[in-house]
Amino acid sequence: MKKLFPALTFFIFFFHIGCKKDQVPDCDDYANSTSVDSLKIKRKVLIIGIDGFRSDAMQVDITPFMHSLSLNNNVYFTPANSVEGDTYSGPNWSSLLTGVHYDKHTVTDNSFEGNTFDRYPSFFSYIEGISKNINTISIVNWTPINDHILSSCSDFSPTEPINDSLVFEKAKDLLINSNPVSPDVVFLHFDELDVAGHNYGFSPSVQEYANTLNTLDSYVNELFNLIETKRVDGEDWICFIVSDHGGEGTGHGDSSNPNINKTIFFAEHPILSFRKNYTSNQTDLSASILDFLGITNSNFDCKTDGISILE
Ligand SMILES: [Zn+2]
Repeated sequence: MKKLFPALTFFIFFFHIGCKKDQVPDCDDYANSTSVDSLKIKRKVLIIGIDGFRSDAMQVDITPFMHSLSLNNNVYFTPANSVEGDTYSGPNWSSLLTGVHYDKHTVTDNSFEGNTFDRYPSFFSYIEGISKNINTISIVNWTPINDHILSSCSDFSPTEPINDSLVFEKAKDLLINSNPVSPDVVFLHFDELDVAGHNYGFSPSVQEYANTLNTLDSYVNELFNLIETKRVDGEDWICFIVSDHGGEGTGHGDSSNPNINKTIFFAEHPILSFRKNYTSNQTDLSASILDFLGITNSNFDCKTDGISILE
């Protein structure tokens, strides 16, 4: 008989967890009601993702454009955006794009194995659920983002790997020529800063890292100038610049290191105001975008860990 006890204990333990779980309100049981603000839904969004952006590398001589942007009154900026406790790219891009922490989407490395994106979908899928006429686009260097998170629910999200300068060229073609579609919600991902960090070191004092970031700053400057032109043409754009993690030495695995577990977060709009004295985290991006577009979804609101940084 004694030998049966471990098995019995095992069964009771899981039975108990099962019961407990049933008592937690299940967001999927909520009516998936969506309301849309008919004026805000016409707005447009650009998100520039820069992989491996260590906050103290944002300096006037390395990133002149972003440095001056950070001092602008119409801009939300923090160098202390909290990244996930798991400081790899997979979990952090997942949190940025779904609005939930990694305990929910369960992505803990770059394999994306066992993810729960069917239950915690990206903000793209909430937008696509509103209207097929809103064009969602994702152009990435690091293709697992499109492979695993965005390509199932977007209008254009190529999955062949391209380098940062091609991401930039395709973004310009999209914004200037509406090729291949007219852009409404655009996510871009640049990866070569992370590559420079792994090869030479994540630090503003490492020349290769600083040079790569300087090039990206010029891309960001040019993209913002294109958005300015579109604003003059009457389009209402918001721009975000986000990152997944910082770095130290040639890695970013130590989640207790502030050079790794903090990164930059920008939001820019010509007239809207942003929360003051608030430090963002990765889950706030999706909530802010849906808020800006006037989309209220009960399912997202129940599940998200983020808040909108718009005031
Ligand atoms: Zn990396």
